[in-house]
Amino acid sequence: MQTIISKLKLPKQLTPLSDIAANLWWTWNANARALFEEIDPKRFDQYGHNPIKLLCGLSEKDKIRLQENENFMRRMQRVHKLLNRYTRARTWYAQQKYPRNRCIAYFSMEFGLHESLPIFAGGLGVLAGDHFKSASDLGLPIVGIGIFWRRGYVRQRIDGDGSQSAKYDRLSPDMLPLEEVRNASSRPIQLKLQAGDHTIAIGAWRLNVGRVPIYLLDTNLPENKPEIRSLTGRLYAGDRETRILQEIVLGMGGWQLLNKLKAPVAACHLNEGHAAFCQLQRIADLVATGKSYAQAKREVSATTVFTTHTPVPAGNEAFAQKLAAKYLRPFCEANNLNLDRILKLSRVDPTNANEEFGMTPLALRLSTKRNGVSALHGEVSRKMWAAVWPGKTVKQVPIKHVTNGVHTDTWMHPQMAALLDAYLPKDWRISQDRTRMFKAVEQIPDEALWTLHESLKQSLVELARQSHAKRLSRIGASKQLQSAAATILEPNALTIGFARRFATYKRATLIFSDLKRLDAILNHSDCPVQLLFSGKAHPADTEGQSFVAQVCKHAAKTKFRNRIVFLEDYDMNIARHLVSGVDVWLNNPRRPQEASGTSGMKPALHGGLNLSILDGWWPEGYERNRNGWAIGEPTDSKNTKMDDLKDAKALYRCLEKEVVPLFYKRDRAGLPKQWIRRMKLSIMTIAPQFNSHRMVKEYLKGYYLPLLRKR
Ligand SMILES: *Cc1c(COP(=O)(O)O)cnc(C)c1O
Repeated sequence: MQTIISKLKLPKQLTPLSDIAANLWWTWNANARALFEEIDPKRFDQYGHNPIKLLCGLSEKDKIRLQENENFMRRMQRVHKLLNRYTRARTWYAQQKYPRNRCIAYFSMEFGLHESLPIFAGGLGVLAGDHFKSASDLGLPIVGIGIFWRRGYVRQRIDGDGSQSAKYDRLSPDMLPLEEVRNASSRPIQLKLQAGDHTIAIGAWRLNVGRVPIYLLDTNLPENKPEIRSLTGRLYAGDRETRILQEIVLGMGGWQLLNKLKAPVAACHLNEGHAAFCQLQRIADLVATGKSYAQAKREVSATTVFTTHTPVPAGNEAFAQKLAAKYLRPFCEANNLNLDRILKLSRVDPTNANEEFGMTPLALRLSTKRNGVSALHGEVSRKMWAAVWPGKTVKQVPIKHVTNGVHTDTWMHPQMAALLDAYLPKDWRISQDRTRMFKAVEQIPDEALWTLHESLKQSLVELARQSHAKRLSRIGASKQLQSAAATILEPNALTIGFARRFATYKRATLIFSDLKRLDAILNHSDCPVQLLFSGKAHPADTEGQSFVAQVCKHAAKTKFRNRIVFLEDYDMNIARHLVSGVDVWLNNPRRPQEASGTSGMKPALHGGLNLSILDGWWPEGYERNRNGWAIGEPTDSKNTKMDDLKDAKALYRCLEKEVVPLFYKRDRAGLPKQWIRRMKLSIMTIAPQFNSHRMVKEYLKGYYLPLLRKR
């Protein structure tokens, strides 16, 4: 990637570093990560693990120091070779002799690939990122379409009173592994999109994720008016007008970009309904070639996969019909389409003009392969959208499911992966979707697994202490509190993690329902328990913010100060620390609102045990008395205080009667043998099933391949 190499001004001997930094492959290769970290661990942290910033900041002396360090140079060459080998190797996909001349275009509003590229808000984005990493590892022909959110998603600062203040980054493309997309005469590509009265100029950046590209659209161009320039500024911020324009840019602009690049697209995969305007552009393009609307609609639908990600209303985007018509009327007029027909596609009941313009019904109607993200969510979605198919029974509603998975190399701590390397078959990583690959976890000596776990927990506790101290100093807490921060928490105590977006249905405050009972659990003299929280509330979600404040207030109480910590500004770095260090991962949403919830799959890779409501993926993963716990019964919540109370009681009971006693039951050598047995079962049962290699292969076999093969 020429631009980055020239920008970095590295001496020739060090240029392999810029090649490595230019491909996000480094984020999931332990050797590459270690290489950057070694250059200067402190600065690497300060720069938010952004290797380009790190390399830019190197002084001449630093550069000489590195070049004179033979060991470092040798390892740099080795990582460089690994990268080249990775990008050139014959892939799993190639070995299957699957079609290679066409590709899948995957549209997503957000991509969560690494903390240094914060263009995502939560699970939806992280899932898209993991999808691409696995697609790259396996060698699938896929291109991504997303948006370069220059101000990223909201950053979280929590004030002394627990209130969350919002801040936004300013991302500089110069400091990211982005390559401006150029045309044949090497001028930056520019699209012109007409949206109502606005003419929107759109540029694009190419991001290399291993072997596959993601194109990020950008309206921050001098040609645009200020309000259009800032369209691709903040993710999930701004008014309805802004949002619909952002989605027009993503869907229609994304499709135009693919055309301009002459990408041989066999089918589109819409990751959530945000990108559904893409379908209208595709229809318009076909109508322009002389096809009838009906035929165009049929062709577009037949080559579209749509994944719905949530039953929660806020996640199913809808616009006022008037607002949608404002932009779609000129579009339809310019493209010989009938506006009324298009508007009807967006309603569950096409005849009901009072219904909002729903991106989910639009996507459902303009696709033929549709899925939810867990078995339960598939069921819930069929019920929820049954009215789109009048005359069909709920069972017949054509929405299936592909259960989410996580990218193992991203989420498994390198030391845990190294431990597995010593016991598992050589090819366990690429064949991680086979249960037998993990069978040898049984052979790992209990002591080895436990010692590693304790050390990962220790480094999590360190992170929590540092983060807490930093916040206390910022909010001007007393010197006494500040110095106490260095010793909060106990490295050996039973540690429970809860980290996710603070959407209210996730009920972050459930465990505080009975403070006396919680106090007794946490502050038990022989069997202490501690809680680590992290997560942002959406800036417009006042209730979610009040949950953040409540957790912080409880955490600040004298009796909980040493037992509860809130880590501010949840990101993938905090997530990696949490999931590799906790004993238990807590998840207590209102069933069935957690469509999948992937975070619990990540601690399981390290033997962390899930303690969860039977919602999302957990009914598929949970094995009683083996790999974790279910909170309460698998009944659907009616959203009442009674349900909350009942679930809180079930949670306390499970902690008191099962989790805590099992954790503190030690043998003579001090090992919790039965707990370790469950840790191993957690890895053995969850790792091979809930990884994104398995997920991507399911999309490939059930959804992509028939479309890649069809002509
Ligand atoms: C895994 C992950 C998520 C998804 O979490 P769920 O709430 O379980 O869906 C969100 N944010 C980050 C940073 C993650 O790593």
